[in-house]
Amino acid sequence: MSFNEVIGQENIKANLRRLISSQHVPHALLFSGTPGSGKLPMALALASSLLCKEENHTEPCGICSGCRMSQKLAHPDLHFVFPVIKPEGKAGKPVSDDYIRQWRELLLESPYFDRSEWLRRMKINNQQIMIYEAESDLIQQKLNIMSSQGGYKVMIIWLPETMNMAAANKLLKILEEPPQKTVFILISDEPDKLLPTILSRTQRIDFPPLSEADIAEALEARNALSHEDARDIAHISEGSYVKALQQLQWGDDREDFFNAFVSLMRLSYSRAVRDLHNWADELASWGRERQKNFLRYGNRLVRENFIYNFHSPHMNFLSGSEATFSTRFARFINEKNVISISQTFSEAESDIEHNANARIVLFDFALKLIVLIKQGNQ
Ligand SMILES: [Zn+2]
Repeated sequence: MSFNEVIGQENIKANLRRLISSQHVPHALLFSGTPGSGKLPMALALASSLLCKEENHTEPCGICSGCRMSQKLAHPDLHFVFPVIKPEGKAGKPVSDDYIRQWRELLLESPYFDRSEWLRRMKINNQQIMIYEAESDLIQQKLNIMSSQGGYKVMIIWLPETMNMAAANKLLKILEEPPQKTVFILISDEPDKLLPTILSRTQRIDFPPLSEADIAEALEARNALSHEDARDIAHISEGSYVKALQQLQWGDDREDFFNAFVSLMRLSYSRAVRDLHNWADELASWGRERQKNFLRYGNRLVRENFIYNFHSPHMNFLSGSEATFSTRFARFINEKNVISISQTFSEAESDIEHNANARIVLFDFALKLIVLIKQGNQ
């Protein structure tokens, strides 16, 4: 990964390049910001630059032995720590190395992914992921070994907020007495959950959401989308390239999602409880990932319909059939119910995520909508 391959974030790139060329890279950096803003790709670009054998190269040369090993994520001085679960049937404490194969695969496919994608890759649904204490012992051991290439060592810690207390305290000790020529890059979605003492040991760089133009440009170049499609998807991705990629994955599901949304709203409005029961049964047969995607999709349409009422087309993104539906439906989503309806979608998504019985969750969800749609139209 080179800086040129990281989408947007030009200010941060310039800042990091300056640190590299002035040889003032701090021993611990904290990259924070929303998922999908490019923290992990940026960390990989920085690591590759530091491990490049060309001295103080602000862009990895791409051809030296260091760069070749970094490209395969197999550089002996590039270490990764990330949250895991205990693999079934394995004795002892789990560590990142137990899942390093899956981690490398995912990163090599694309470093733009989020926590749920990582869960799917570890083939788990609903277990708490964590960085365990054993990991911090291993960090210490790895850093005690001399750099194999005589240069920098880089330790990328993804989601340090998932460290348990013992792991976090041990990491703090390491950060307090950092080994020479070692750079820690902590990548956090929720830096407020980190120990203040860890925060104070790091130099924090906040990643803003990506601009729509940057997302659209990347979608056109990397995913061969037309200019119009790329712009439309960028518009609904809320500054996250991960969300943009999810939109692409929805692809063929979109029409089913739209139809399910329309039925749901019509049946809720006409208080057709028996039909809503059937609706919930039908969706319960979809599988959890698809159900969650539907609920995310529906939540977006709720917000879009609310915005529709303000007659500001530049703030609205709706496809043709969605927009036609909104001409009559939008008025049912208004300031009296938009927040509660949106929360109801999010709660159902979270319940499904936590393995609750989908049939019950979805029927219950539909019943709540009857009340909320009515509330908005009294
Ligand atoms: Zn190189």
